[in-house]
Amino acid sequence: MTSNLRSHYDIVVVGAGPAGASAAYWLARAGADVALLERKHLPRAKTCGDGLTPRAVAQLTDMGLGEFLEGHHRYRGLRANGFGRTLLLPWPSHPSYPGYGYVVTRHDLDVAVARNAAQAGASLFEGVTATPLCEDGRVVGVLAAGRGEPAPVRSRFVVVADGSNSRFGRALGTERVRAWPMGLAIRGYWRSPRSAEPWIDSTLDLRDEQGKVVPGYGWIFPLGDGRVNVGVGLLSNSPRWKGLNTTHLLERYVETQRGAWALEPDPASPAPTGGKLPMGLAVHPRAGAGWIAAGDAAGSINPFNGEGIAYGYETGRLAASALATALAGEGDAALMGYEHALEEAYARYYRLGRLFVRVIGRPAVMQAALTAGMRSERLMGGMVRVMANILRPGAIAVPELGYRAAAVLAAAVPEPGGRAERAAVPEQRPPAPAIGEEPAA
Ligand SMILES: Cc1cc2nc3c(=O)[nH]c(=O)nc-3n(C[C@H](O)[C@H](O)[C@H](O)COP(=O)(O)OP(=O)(O)OC[C@H]3O[C@@H](n4cnc5c(N)ncnc54)[C@H](O)[C@@H]3O)c2cc1C
Repeated sequence: MTSNLRSHYDIVVVGAGPAGASAAYWLARAGADVALLERKHLPRAKTCGDGLTPRAVAQLTDMGLGEFLEGHHRYRGLRANGFGRTLLLPWPSHPSYPGYGYVVTRHDLDVAVARNAAQAGASLFEGVTATPLCEDGRVVGVLAAGRGEPAPVRSRFVVVADGSNSRFGRALGTERVRAWPMGLAIRGYWRSPRSAEPWIDSTLDLRDEQGKVVPGYGWIFPLGDGRVNVGVGLLSNSPRWKGLNTTHLLERYVETQRGAWALEPDPASPAPTGGKLPMGLAVHPRAGAGWIAAGDAAGSINPFNGEGIAYGYETGRLAASALATALAGEGDAALMGYEHALEEAYARYYRLGRLFVRVIGRPAVMQAALTAGMRSERLMGGMVRVMANILRPGAIAVPELGYRAAAVLAAAVPEPGGRAERAAVPEQRPPAPAIGEEPAA
């Protein structure tokens, strides 16, 4: 697949998930010469709940994929279960987002978005693994390895969109703030006669083998094709995090749901798989000499709900906008503008999200809050607006006013691993290696 790769592009994008495909699409639309490199062959499976919220739908529609979405399973909102109660919470109205979401397997979604970027003018290469190509502390492109010998591909800038483990980003010196919580989740596919339901289903009182509530949630997302995506997600700041086995937790969750959903194994689906969820913009830095990181490689998942697809599309788009400015003559100064754009779009909201996660990481607090919340449909409806980040700008209503007050309080609460602490920690990693050198282990 590397045979058609040229030796130079304006931009090389590493990874064709939501962040990379979106960056490539918006860059191609801006007239840039873009290579989008994906190490797997598309379509490929990706461990995910497959849930698209109104924010994700808005981004996909902006990329011209509204018709594609219409061929998939649309849902109206969330059914929240817990502490003996069930609430139906439709997506609230918003001037910029639709009142519905979709459930689409990443197998089907990612290939459509990547090919859409190619149709817009990006050159898509599959089966190509990229590693950084650096000169004098600056990224000047990638080494692209396909079937044959790795080949240098130079570019003016590189977009790092290689997902949650981000080996490419780590080689450039990105790090996750370890004092901030992370998510861990596992999912599999089952068959169910309720696969066409118009609600995604969430269990808020997920329990371990002793029947104790654990910080996290279980989900069943109907795909509309006879299957449902079933998974559990956990927070790393829970006191019981280390002792919990997610596979066993998922097995127990499936057992509790089997009767209600008439769950049957899906012979065509592989065994459940899990992954990490880097949240709350926990990865630093997000830009450097010649490169920009987007999506999970920048830790952009929403800490309130574990949603990352929409933020992959959004940060990919922000990265494309900064790079279009850089290509137009502003150079690296525009990359620092990307850091500012991220801060402006998410910093306040994600800081509150990180505090929320710290607080509900205590099982007793989480249990008390949810027991109270599940008694009020209005309160939980407002929480959905906050947690899915579909707040109306300038609105004078309870969720927005509550959010603004909480965000002010969160800004005043000291945070471990915050900006001041990070600045005090000396740089642990060497700068990006020079061309021909091995990256540090
Ligand atoms: C179990 C689980 C459930 C989840 N459920 C949801 C959900 O329901 N809704 C939601 O919004 N989010 C969900 N998320 C989060 C979501 O999956 C991620 O946030 C999202 O995929 C991030 O997109 P990305 O483009 O940054 O990275 P990815 O989707 O991981 O894409 C990165 C791509 O880069 C490629 N790549 C990696 N290294 C290289 C390389 N060196 N060279 C070339 N290519 C490379 C990979 O093959 C991959 O295709 C879930 C996550 C997990 C683990």
